[in-house]
Amino acid sequence: MEKIEHLGIAVKDLDASNALFKKLLGEPHYKIEEVASEGVRTSFFKSGPNKIELLEATSENSPIAKFLEKKGEGIHHVAFAVDDIKAEIARLKGEGFTVLNEQPKKGADNKLVAFLHPRTTNGVLIELCQEAPSTKGDSA
Ligand code: ZN
Repeated sequence: MEKIEHLGIAVKDLDASNALFKKLLGEPHYKIEEVASEGVRTSFFKSGPNKIELLEATSENSPIAKFLEKKGEGIHHVAFAVDDIKAEIARLKGEGFTVLNEQPKKGADNKLVAFLHPRTTNGVLIELCQEAPSTKGDSA
């Protein structure tokens, strides 16, 4: 894995949290993106070379809604950048980690993503993300 790509933080109210993180970091978010398939609305902030993703649930069945119900607001996942997500999935499976989706899926921020079950990673949901090949005209 190359580096921590971003930290994901689950929030109840994205607009309120955007205002809060703007105060905290001194700069507003640089994008908002909804990932309908995951039932989330996300915003991204930069802090120097680092990124923070805020996640709000858009439906009751969203994994974020379930997380908030169980644990409340807070750090939801740690995302690592990888060069070859399929190779990393195979490697980590071989090491005994539980991969939640063995087929990488499209996440926010033009990334292909896969998640490791927190049960196998000391309680921390781990996201692997690889820059998606450019897919112009694929925004529908
Ligand atoms: Zn993320």
